[in-house]
Amino acid sequence: MAEPIRVFIVEDEPRIARFLQIELEHEGFQAETEANGRRAFERIVQENHDIVLLDVMLPDMDGMEICRRVREVSSIPIIMLTARDEIEDKVNGLDIGADDYMTKPFAIQELLARIRAALRKHAPRDTVSGEEKLVVRNLVLYPSRYEVQVKGENVELTKKEYSLLEYLMRNKRMVLTRDQILQKVWGYDYVGDTNVVDVYIRYLRAKIDDKFQDKYIHTVRGVGYVIKE
Ligand code: CA
Repeated sequence: MAEPIRVFIVEDEPRIARFLQIELEHEGFQAETEANGRRAFERIVQENHDIVLLDVMLPDMDGMEICRRVREVSSIPIIMLTARDEIEDKVNGLDIGADDYMTKPFAIQELLARIRAALRKHAPRDTVSGEEKLVVRNLVLYPSRYEVQVKGENVELTKKEYSLLEYLMRNKRMVLTRDQILQKVWGYDYVGDTNVVDVYIRYLRAKIDDKFQDKYIHTVRGVGYVIKE
């Protein structure tokens, strides 16, 4: 699936936010903006962005706090945008789990390079073959081959089971609601029971967690599911 990469721009300076959005869309990314810190945190957790550009000084909740709180639930790549050349901010940014930082003003080409590097780091490629693989402990998924292995042993999955597992693994540590899963795996036009998600989670657990006696897929009561290390 060649869906555009979704960049979430958290920036309260409208001119900078607009500039970044235009430049990123020009490069083929899908870009959304948010100026309020607290709303930004909520949207990062609830929506499915691929990478976050995070300003430090923001109304309601600052970028450091947002980063720290997001890291409790998600491994989404985060690039901090610091206003001045503040050494302390840089150190702090990386301390609290940011993947990278940039000092404003910066050249857009450099930002694009950093974005691509952060995304590559997030989806590590096999060091020998160079192919992408998603890894959660002993569970490995190879998107280019539609293959799943646990401890090197192949796991046979149906197309839907595979899509569901890939979606969970691409968002590991992030709690996904049944609605999010339905929209992403079954499609926006799916009409039917949301129970279908629970049914397929059961199929996956039987083939992975139960078979290999190792818990990967966790239920978050009243919310949804998460796959964790
Ligand atoms: Ca700001």
